[in-house]
Amino acid sequence: MAYSTDQKIAIQKVLAESKEPLKPTDILKAARLSIPTLGIATVYRHLQGLQKEGRVEGIEVPQSSPRYILSNDRCSSYFLCTQCDRLFPLREESQEINSVMMTQYDVSSYQGFYYGACKEKCGPI
Ligand SMILES: [Zn+2]
Repeated sequence: MAYSTDQKIAIQKVLAESKEPLKPTDILKAARLSIPTLGIATVYRHLQGLQKEGRVEGIEVPQSSPRYILSNDRCSSYFLCTQCDRLFPLREESQEINSVMMTQYDVSSYQGFYYGACKEKCGPI
């Protein structure tokens, strides 16, 4: 039986090694390689704890299921492949907010999603 701390470390390791924000089921699959007894309820429990500690952030994805990412890795724009349901972080995206936004609103954060097909696996729709 693995200790709770080991489980938590394994989950963080999976997130750190992933280039993409992950669904809890993806995290479970990858973390089971090091902790075969891990269950989905435990993954959710640790994700909640890690979010409270500010180490992990949840991303609500319109038209798909929530993903999780290390707080240090989060970005404001993502691309969702509607074919394979993978979510790709867009780190090169310009973070500029236009002047209308700046004068009319007090913007505290931005979260945007692009939709389409990833060329890596799914090709043009
Ligand atoms: Zn795809």
